[in-house]
Amino acid sequence: MESFLETNLSPEILEGIKKLGFEKPTPIQAETIPVLINNRTDVIGLAQTGTGKTAAFGLPAIELTDSNLLQVQTLILCPTRELCLQITRDLENFAYYVKDLNIAAVYGGANIVAQIQQLKRGCHIVVGTPGRVIDLIKRKALNLASVERVILDEADEMLNMGFIEDIDTILAATPAQKQIWLFSATMPPEIARISQKYMKNPIEIAVGRKNTGAENVQHEYYLVHAKDKYAALKRICDMNPDIYGIIFCRTRQETKEIAENLINDGYNADALHGDLSQAQRDQVMLRFRTHHLQLLVATDVAARGIDVENITHIINYSLPDDPEVYIHRSGRTGRAGRSGISISIIHSKEQGKLRTIENMLKKNILRKPVPTGKQICEKQLFNLIDKVEKVTVIPEVAPYLEVIYKKLQWLDRDELIQHFVSVEFNRFLEYYKNAPDLNIYKESTSKSTPYKKEKTQNSRNLDQQPARSGKKGYAKLKINIGKNHGLKPTKLIGIINDRTRNRDIHFGKIEIDDKFTIFEVSQNHLEEVANALNGITFSGINVYAESLKKK
Ligand code: ADP
Ligand code: MG
Repeated sequence: MESFLETNLSPEILEGIKKLGFEKPTPIQAETIPVLINNRTDVIGLAQTGTGKTAAFGLPAIELTDSNLLQVQTLILCPTRELCLQITRDLENFAYYVKDLNIAAVYGGANIVAQIQQLKRGCHIVVGTPGRVIDLIKRKALNLASVERVILDEADEMLNMGFIEDIDTILAATPAQKQIWLFSATMPPEIARISQKYMKNPIEIAVGRKNTGAENVQHEYYLVHAKDKYAALKRICDMNPDIYGIIFCRTRQETKEIAENLINDGYNADALHGDLSQAQRDQVMLRFRTHHLQLLVATDVAARGIDVENITHIINYSLPDDPEVYIHRSGRTGRAGRSGISISIIHSKEQGKLRTIENMLKKNILRKPVPTGKQICEKQLFNLIDKVEKVTVIPEVAPYLEVIYKKLQWLDRDELIQHFVSVEFNRFLEYYKNAPDLNIYKESTSKSTPYKKEKTQNSRNLDQQPARSGKKGYAKLKINIGKNHGLKPTKLIGIINDRTRNRDIHFGKIEIDDKFTIFEVSQNHLEEVANALNGITFSGINVYAESLKKK
């Protein structure tokens, strides 16, 4: 199908599509729209993430919903609040020129009274998360007696999240003769079961080669020891200063930890997971969408279905158990003809998993060497120079320039450049000075070609000294002294040893920033160490220690 004109959608809807700049239907849209408009049948639509499923069901849903009849005719269920808002926004755009069509978004974590009021005013299409929909049914605020179609979007994810019973309850509240349209990126056995239970002779429309990743995504992996994963992550981020990406973790706990560590280490990162309040999640998503946040650390569930453009990298900090999930993750990048990179940071035992994914992708996943400190420094340096070269000089600086010129008069051009570069760059250089090589050179099962070992100093890096990071049984302390005050790991340990005279205290990761330091100590010595440091004076500073409780 070359044009939406062939779909028989009404002119107002076509106008809306045109305004959005959609030129022709995507394959899933081309397949489903005619079927959904012309047949009163149940449909299962399967297509991978990013293929335009929302319009595939949304356009026919708007077409079939009669705006002269102020009743809920279409009910769309989806797993998360973010998706609910996104679908609603999409539908509103599609229906931009359709007169008097009311679409309500109902989701948990938001004021239910406002949603009840909106429903009372009357609406034609309701987009909701299962829990809130049930709540509203119970409160008799949502009447589903006139529903003609129920659409289950991201059905596989709703099942993963345990919404099956809720869906049961909701479907029971809708008329028997309704249609069910089920859309999903994957077809796990549970979906087949649902379709058997609820759907009548559904037509299954699957588009594209199943289970393969987007065409223009490049897949790469880094092989490191498990203890070096975080350090490798940082290097990958440092090597890509303009990265705009999602870092996928397996659990909420891991998501929190990685985000917390990245933030502490000065990265523009934040976490998205189920333990956050709705307001917090909205805030994080808003910052990410508007590019104020560079790195979103997320669980699969929290990031599911969220459509953000221009993502440059997907980082699998932990590989998912299910290889299909890898494909979804990587499908978040490389959209709309742009290229994207999907990165996995793995340890030796995970190489098998990677092979399974490769088979599914029908693409090679290329092994890349973890960048060395030297490479990162070069990259950052030239990035800085690029910025200096390209920056727009604004007129507002003019009044200050004369004084500044005078002040810097004694430096010649070369010296001046050296000074400017050093201001920004010393910290990086310092950080990566003597950084160890994180690559593993013995490859056992991998079929990709090993690369030559680069000569780097193999001395210990500050951020790994003296024990490995994130160990169980460690607690974190933050103190208000750092590099600027002359603190070094050995000094810190020395002070604590002096004051406590306890040789059993173990230290984990010690990270010394300019003005503060965060370090790990054995959990059972947390109080003792905090007491030992609180109130002492170091380089004229009154030291205080605070414990960084895991949120
Ligand atoms: P899915 O639900 O399959 O993951 P979405 O419905 O979220 O995918 O669509 C992914 C992106 O593609 C969205 O940004 C959407 O606006 C865009 N899109 C959808 N259909 C078209 C089309 N026909 N032409 C161009 N862009 C489209
Ligand atoms: Mg979708």
